[in-house]
Amino acid sequence: MPKILRPMDVYKYLPGTNCGKCGEANCMAFATKLIERQVSIEQCPEIFEPKYKDKLKAMLEVLRAPVKEVTIGVGERAVTIGGKVCVYRHELTWYHPTAIAIDVHDEMAEDELIKRVKQVEEFVFERIGMQLKLDMIALRCVSGNPEKFARTADLIAKNTSLPMILCSFDPNVMEEALLTVGSKKPLIYAATEKNWKEFAKLASKYECPLTVSAPGDLSMLKSLCRSLRNYGLDDLVLDPGTYPVGDAFGETVNMFTMLRISAIEKNDADIGYPLMAVPAAIWALSKDEDEANVKMQESYVSCVLMARYADLLVMHSMDPWVLLPVLVCRQNLYTDPRVPLAVDPGLYEVKEPDEMSPLYVTCNSALTYFLVKNDVEAAGSGWLLCVDTGGISLQSSVAGRRFTADMVAEAMKEFGALEKVKHKTVIIPGYAARISGELEDMLKDWKVYVGPRDSTAIPSFIEKVWKPEVSKK
Ligand code: SF4
Repeated sequence: MPKILRPMDVYKYLPGTNCGKCGEANCMAFATKLIERQVSIEQCPEIFEPKYKDKLKAMLEVLRAPVKEVTIGVGERAVTIGGKVCVYRHELTWYHPTAIAIDVHDEMAEDELIKRVKQVEEFVFERIGMQLKLDMIALRCVSGNPEKFARTADLIAKNTSLPMILCSFDPNVMEEALLTVGSKKPLIYAATEKNWKEFAKLASKYECPLTVSAPGDLSMLKSLCRSLRNYGLDDLVLDPGTYPVGDAFGETVNMFTMLRISAIEKNDADIGYPLMAVPAAIWALSKDEDEANVKMQESYVSCVLMARYADLLVMHSMDPWVLLPVLVCRQNLYTDPRVPLAVDPGLYEVKEPDEMSPLYVTCNSALTYFLVKNDVEAAGSGWLLCVDTGGISLQSSVAGRRFTADMVAEAMKEFGALEKVKHKTVIIPGYAARISGELEDMLKDWKVYVGPRDSTAIPSFIEKVWKPEVSKK
């Protein structure tokens, strides 16, 4: 069974003094937030008193997720992956979104390398009020030359604060790079059946997380993990192999699924670590000569493996059309399924509206708000009133009577919409047409326009239909 914690499971290990130093009203409130990952244990200073040493140890054991958290890098852009406590996201939230790394190699020209690294660091796409970014650089050793690999790692470290994955199976190559950038805590890739002892020494000496690789061989992967755990290493990442082409892709998906289910539902601690997928392998394995097709495959392979538990993706394509579906998929998977994404109810100004600007009404679902806001912007400026529907989308809210005439009228009063415009007209969404008559009765001398069902039609609606001068105060 998945390890779903209850507040009492951790409360019993807290000091129980209810001192409030953590900012919570009492220890139980802190325990509740602790299991929801909204606070960290470091925020309770009391538990670090020597007298609570045994309680702290027991609590850390209880709090350890079946899939261990592993942090790569240092500073603000350090990335934590893993920390999963459930297989299905409807059981609880999936914490620590899948990190996305873009590959570079040590045979690239210096200016080309720096340009790509900067592109990765600066890539940002805004959606539903959140910034979607890339996370890491994966440096592959192509030259086989330790000095060259180390120089390239150093150059990357000097040009970005993003964490790195150092990729080579040669311990000499790896050590040379770790001498240079080991203090940045890169992820070492990878310990295999042949080199694991040397790589274990390196990971231990430089205190860096280590990837364990056994492509297509889960028994070997588990055996390597056990050996590395016995060696004293616990910051591991698993690479079961990514075969993104043909029937082998189905087997890859099955391997990822088996690993995660065994870790969480069967409590198999040997494989309770984050999973790495390498969709970039499509560039070496695909026989398709059309580059656009290969890019498209890399995009959907990334999305599928992310949904099937990959905690870290190594990708090659940098085209926005390849990356955006992956970033949006990640955003959707890693929101809290118990809480709809919502904006605060209220009256929002879109592009400096004045007293003759249109007044629009919608729900406070974040997805709806940002789509409608963009379309209002495209139409000019306006006032956008978000009625509190608990973050539920408009159609569902209308059907479930969470977006009614009296709620709209009440919100117009509460948020001052009546005073903001002179024209006494309000535009409701097309999907809420059924409330227009009742709302007009409630607002007395106001005119209620039924806007388009699809908000992308707002600009043409304003141009062709909306006539504020007809009903000026
Ligand atoms: S700081 Fe620790 S002991 Fe004090 S109330 Fe918070 S959880 Fe309890």
